[in-house]
Amino acid sequence: MTKLVKKIALLTSGGDAPGMNAAIRSATLTAHDYEVIGYKHGFNGLLDQDCIVLNDADVRHIIHQGGTILKSARCPAFSEVQSSKIAAENLSKNQIDALIVIGGDGSFRGACHLAQYWSGQIIGIPGTIDNDVDGTDHTIGFYTAMETALDATDKIRDTADAFERIFIVEVMGRHSGFLATSIGIACGAEQIICPELHAPEHFDLQTITQHVESTRARRGKSSYIIVMSENSYPDGAVALAHLLSEQIGIDCRACVLGHIQRGGSPVASDRILATKLGAAAVEAIASGKSKLMIGESQGAIACIPLDQASTHQKTVDTTLLKLQQHVFDHQG
Ligand code: ADP
Repeated sequence: MTKLVKKIALLTSGGDAPGMNAAIRSATLTAHDYEVIGYKHGFNGLLDQDCIVLNDADVRHIIHQGGTILKSARCPAFSEVQSSKIAAENLSKNQIDALIVIGGDGSFRGACHLAQYWSGQIIGIPGTIDNDVDGTDHTIGFYTAMETALDATDKIRDTADAFERIFIVEVMGRHSGFLATSIGIACGAEQIICPELHAPEHFDLQTITQHVESTRARRGKSSYIIVMSENSYPDGAVALAHLLSEQIGIDCRACVLGHIQRGGSPVASDRILATKLGAAAVEAIASGKSKLMIGESQGAIACIPLDQASTHQKTVDTTLLKLQQHVFDHQG
């Protein structure tokens, strides 16, 4: 039977990020001339043929909801050739013309892998709280995660001040320090530990403890906040706090913010970014484009090759880290 309308499929993959629903909504509403299919649980949905039709009513009133109505998941099997071939066959069986993958650089690697076996159009939309995707100033979810973590860290400062305590606040960002740097600057942290400054294999305990000790010598007893990216210290913030307390004699507490950073209603900036990128992804498909990631650079829609977005990681501007240090050193 011949198909009358082009079909666009959407999926959300990898770490979920607030604003993914806003991107699903925007793409679905922009694609009013198409049939829209949502695959569930990331790439797993392509393998299991687990999909739903998305109509305007399905995406009504989801712009403010965290998480993703399509669910997200990791799909380790997708790295295998056989899996991508099955996914390609299933997409063809469902007569899908174009696929939009909303996720981080890992999900884009999955999309590039699929592109070797499927000839349909593939477009990526950057959705990850880590903000580490090349080709876009910000990723969907970063602004919300930053606000959530900042609010929590401000609360830690209050109790740290009351007891004049040292705290290590662990934030997400396994391979990049965007969250740690932004939160560290915004909360006036005394120290930031992130991969750009301290690779886990070169963890420099002495520099960290010297800074704590010299600050205490200068200020006397007062609160002291270290914002640290997860994975920066091999066993995490709790182990580092234990080490500082038990072996070095610097009494220290840890607070691991964890998955709270992924949840919650997206802030306005994430909703707006997701709305722009969802619409631009459908427009890119309408104009015949493929294997691109749609991002935003300096306020304008920017497209980069999907394989570049999946292989080149964006890193924190080190001048920001220097700024934090400079401001700290002059505040006494
Ligand atoms: P994120 O998209 O948040 O960076 P992950 O790195 O966990 O998340 O990747 C999400 C999913 O993308 C993986 O579970 C897997 O299904 C797929 N993926 C990642 N890398 C590859 C790859 N090299 N080949 C095929 N699929 C991949």
